[in-house]
Amino acid sequence: MKQKRFFLSEDQIPEKWYNIAADMPNKPAPMLNPKTKEPVTEDELSEIFCRECSRQELNVTDRWIDIPGEVREKYCYYRSTPLVRAYGLEEALGTPAHIYFKNESVSPVGSHKLNSALAQAWYCKQEGVRNVTTETGAGQWGTALSYAARIFGMEAAVYQVKISYEQKPYRRSIMQVFGAQVTPSPSMSTRAGKDILTVNPNHQGSLGTAISEAVELARMTPDCKYTLGSTMSHVSLHQTVIGLEAEKQMEMAGEYPDEVIACFGGGSNFSGIAFPFMRHNISGKTHTRFIAAEPASCPKLTRGVLAYDYGDEAGYTPLIPMYTLGHEFMPANIHAGGLRYHGAGAIVTQLLKDGLMEGMDINQIEAFEAGVLFAKAEGIIPAPESSHAIAATVRRALECKETGESKVLLFNLTGHGLMDMSSYDQYLRGNLINYSLTDEEIRKSVKNVVGI
Ligand SMILES: *Cc1c(COP(=O)(O)O)cnc(C)c1O
Repeated sequence: MKQKRFFLSEDQIPEKWYNIAADMPNKPAPMLNPKTKEPVTEDELSEIFCRECSRQELNVTDRWIDIPGEVREKYCYYRSTPLVRAYGLEEALGTPAHIYFKNESVSPVGSHKLNSALAQAWYCKQEGVRNVTTETGAGQWGTALSYAARIFGMEAAVYQVKISYEQKPYRRSIMQVFGAQVTPSPSMSTRAGKDILTVNPNHQGSLGTAISEAVELARMTPDCKYTLGSTMSHVSLHQTVIGLEAEKQMEMAGEYPDEVIACFGGGSNFSGIAFPFMRHNISGKTHTRFIAAEPASCPKLTRGVLAYDYGDEAGYTPLIPMYTLGHEFMPANIHAGGLRYHGAGAIVTQLLKDGLMEGMDINQIEAFEAGVLFAKAEGIIPAPESSHAIAATVRRALECKETGESKVLLFNLTGHGLMDMSSYDQYLRGNLINYSLTDEEIRKSVKNVVGI
């Protein structure tokens, strides 16, 4: 019988995260304090983030960072996640490629986001924080943080992008079940929200607006820290548990990936699955190709500019060196809400600049086609975000079919799409559209950012 799924025993679950910054040939450019234009310090970051995450954010020297025992214990409740050989998808495509996926959709909250939520919540708890706040787009990160806050006995206040709050009411309900307070953003509850609504009362919200509101709440509330589900280096660090497991599981399968593929919002799951493998490219041992699949309607990797830009709409975050479409960029209302973000984190930005990874643009309809094909072949309804990685994998597998190469492709299945069935409905009824973006539109949205 052909083995389809590969698991690790509890003692094989990683005890350390991998910090790629320690190995990078060129370190990421520093984040800057927007007022002084000096590199941000741990103390400045700690005004909004907890101390340990601030420390991790700036750590470019320690290659391995201990996973706290209690966090690892919670990981063991759902990890290892299965590494799966996608025989069904291979057959449906008639490709000689070997396709594997890492199934992060089996976490209790249905996505990879819990890997960092548990870590961030635990560190906050250790530091005596009682309230955590954050933003959420599609609702995945908010769900993960709400649950993580609950199990460590803290309150969570979540600003949810308004369009998602309305389009995905069940995500809001899940957060509320976990006891979180959920507010649609932009809201009138913060200065940043009021300013945005004054200019545009019909603002649909974006991750940028929600981040501004959550950061403001963290600054104004004692005992409250801000947490972030993507983009920052410490989030990518926590997600490396995915790739470290996958590395061992691929070994069990007797293969090594020629290509590692992940969808890309702010970069956390891409980093998570890619960095542990990328370390072998950096040391010259392997020549794996790393592909980040982004929406064609939000193409910061392939069409953005390299600049110092804010992580949020109102300009509350430090200036981050990023491939960006400009912090005022309003992504089209695609259904992959988790990918509607204007910029890439500092580390992936440097890696892209240095040619260690590449971006690939996927249209919304191509993503759904691939998602449906995958569902039929493997029985799992993928999140629309994950479908971007699947679509990129399908493209590569079909190219293998043309050339007759049996490459080993590994992609990350970041989440299931069972909360996204209304978007599948629209796809099946032929009501989805592709959004194209002109160079002129991009030129306009980046005109206020400072190039590097
Ligand atoms: C948040 C999210 C993403 C995108 O975020 P990254 O930080 O780029 O990984 C992708 N898939 C799912 C299911 C998500 O929840």
